[in-house]
Amino acid sequence: MAILPIRIWGDCVLHRPAAPVTTITTEIRTLVADMFETMDAAPGVGLAAPQVGVGLRIYTYTYDEPGEPTWRGVILNPELWMELPAPGLPDPESESEGCLSFPDEDFPLRRSDHVHVRGSDLEGEPVEIDVHGWRARIMQHEYDHLNGIIYVNRLIEPYHSEAHTIARQKGWGIPGLSWLPEEE
Ligand code: ZN
Repeated sequence: MAILPIRIWGDCVLHRPAAPVTTITTEIRTLVADMFETMDAAPGVGLAAPQVGVGLRIYTYTYDEPGEPTWRGVILNPELWMELPAPGLPDPESESEGCLSFPDEDFPLRRSDHVHVRGSDLEGEPVEIDVHGWRARIMQHEYDHLNGIIYVNRLIEPYHSEAHTIARQKGWGIPGLSWLPEEE
């Protein structure tokens, strides 16, 4: 297994839709193992294949809630259904999220509280996920990556402008930038 470099905002693979997985090959299995290792090292609660430079519809996720077993998995070719997000403005305290491809920043974003995701696992078996709250947020964030959307694209003002200013200051927004998480 290997920790993979994580592409940064501006790299082309992040900003275009990913292609469906047609066959689960040895390469795909290795990619998924590497994605789990990279996600844990980053550390992050989710990682989509485009973030490690692979334009395929795959993401991994992991989430710990006190008193519950770790919620963790991989999904291939997901379809996502969501309840409409509640109206109103996002609360900066409880509704801020970040992205490994826009590192060290977070911004408030209103998301749906309830999603249903359908796809397949690494054995090609059907997977159904029905979740609320932060887990639903993770699903929406990672699913967006497969459509070339980063949460920064969804921000309202003033957060949208702030994010773009930061990207400019950090020299992001051009192809070829990445960062490498360190081993734990
Ligand atoms: Zn992300």
